[in-house]
Amino acid sequence: MGIRIGIIGGGAAGLFATCQFKRLARGRDIDVTVIEKNTVPGMKLTLTGHGRCNITNLKEASELKNGYHEAGNFIYPALRQFGPEDTIRFFENELGLPLKEEDNNRIFPVCDSAVTVRDTLLSYISDRARIITDTKVSAIGSASGFEVLTDKGRYGFDRIILSCGGSSFAKTGSTGDSYTLAGSLGHTIEPVKAALAPVRAESSSAVLCRELSGVSVSAGVSVWHEGRKTASYEGEVLFAEFGLTGPAVMEISREIPSDILNAYLELDLVPSESDEEFDRHLQTLIDEHADTKMANLLSRFIPSSVAAGITSRTGTEDLYAQGFTRENRRKICREMKHLKIGIDRAPDIDRAYVTRGGVSLREVDRKTMESKIVPGMYIIGEALDIDGISGGYNLQACMSEAYLAAKSILDR
Ligand SMILES: Cc1cc2nc3c(=O)[nH]c(=O)nc-3n(C[C@H](O)[C@H](O)[C@H](O)COP(=O)(O)OP(=O)(O)OC[C@H]3O[C@@H](n4cnc5c(N)ncnc54)[C@H](O)[C@@H]3O)c2cc1C
Repeated sequence: MGIRIGIIGGGAAGLFATCQFKRLARGRDIDVTVIEKNTVPGMKLTLTGHGRCNITNLKEASELKNGYHEAGNFIYPALRQFGPEDTIRFFENELGLPLKEEDNNRIFPVCDSAVTVRDTLLSYISDRARIITDTKVSAIGSASGFEVLTDKGRYGFDRIILSCGGSSFAKTGSTGDSYTLAGSLGHTIEPVKAALAPVRAESSSAVLCRELSGVSVSAGVSVWHEGRKTASYEGEVLFAEFGLTGPAVMEISREIPSDILNAYLELDLVPSESDEEFDRHLQTLIDEHADTKMANLLSRFIPSSVAAGITSRTGTEDLYAQGFTRENRRKICREMKHLKIGIDRAPDIDRAYVTRGGVSLREVDRKTMESKIVPGMYIIGEALDIDGISGGYNLQACMSEAYLAAKSILDR
C-alpha cells in the first residue's frame, strides 16, 4: 500500500497542498485524503479579495518576506522555493486559469471570481484525492502513524498536514481547531488576536467617524499605548459608521494591544509635512488668504468634509483666516497632525481577515514545515504564527508552505 497522507482542513492551504501532491507525486504510490468540516471545502477562499481572490503579490522573495512582520525570516525559504512566479505558472499552466496584475503587484484571476478559483482547484485535485466533507476532526493520536478521530469515525494515516486555519471569520469554518489539535500534541500556541481588522471607535471619537462615514483620507496612523507610540503606518484611512477601516487601519490593527484601556489611535492628516513645516505652511496660507474661512484653507490638504469636521472640533468653523489667533492655529495643527481616535475594544477576531498568533514557529522546521514536536505532522497556513499584510501575501504563504510540506513528505 502507498503512503497514506491525511490533510486536516480543506481550506486554501489544504487544497494547495493537495494540488502539490498531484503535481509532484507523478507515478508515486500515495493515497491523499482531505478531511473538511464544512459541506464544501474552501469557504474562506471564496470570500478573498472581495470575491475576486488576490492570489499573490508579484515580488522577489527577498522583498516579499518583509510583508510577514516577525515571521519574515521563517517563511523566506518557503517563498524562495515556491514564490509568486511559481504560483502564477501553476495557476496559468496547470490549472488553466489566466491571471492579471493590478496595482501594487497584486495578482488576480482574469475572471475576477474567487469561487471559480476554489472550483478550479477542486476540479484539478478530484482525480488525485479523496475529499471527505461535513466531517470534523476532534482529536489526533500519534502512537504509530496517526489516528485521526472525527465525528464520523476514525482514519489512519502515515503522515498528516494540519491546515485547519486560524480563528478569524469563524463562520467559514476556521474556529481555532488547529490550536486545540496542535496544542493537545504538545505544541505551544502563541496568543491569538485579530490582524487586518477594522477598528471600533470609542464614543468620544465615534461621532466624528460617523459624520465622516464613507470619506477616505491619505494619512499616517499610529498606535499609542501607555504614553508611547508603539507602531505607525501610512496609507488610506476610511471613516465608517463604527469607527475606522481602510488599508492603513487594517494593517496596523495587529499592533493594537488586547488591553485597550490605555491605548488610542492617532491620525496624521498631513503626513508629508512635519509639525513645524505644517505650522509654517498654515501661517503662510493665513497671511496670504486673510478673507478665507479656515475650513476652505484646510481643504487644500484634506477632503472638505474632514476639514469641516476639524474646524467644528476646534470651534473655528465660523472664523476667517484674518481673525485667527495663535491659539486657534495651535489647536488646528494639533488636530490635523495628532487627531486622537479612542478605541472602543480590541479589534474583533471575527471581523479580522487573518489571525495573528498560532502554532509557535520555534517548533516547526522552516525548510519542510514539519513539526519538531510530532515527527510526520506538517503544519501550514493560518494555523501557524504567521500573518501577512494585505495584497495576496496570506494566500502566497499558504501556497509556499503547502509546496514545502508536500515536497518534504514525498522526498522522505
Ligand atoms: C474576507 C477575507 C478576505 C481575504 N482576502 C484575501 C486575499 O484576497 N488574498 C490573500 O492572500 N488572503 C486573503 N485573506 C486571507 C486568507 O483567506 C487566509 O489567510 C487563508 O484562507 C488561510 O488559509 P488556511 O487554509 O490556513 O485556513 P482556512 O482557509 O480558514 O481553511 C481552514 C479549513 O479547515 C477547516 N477546518 C477547521 N477546523 C476543522 C476540523 N476540526 N476538522 C476538519 N476541518 C476543519 C475549515 O472549515 C476550513 O475549510 C482573506 C481573508 C478573509 C476573511
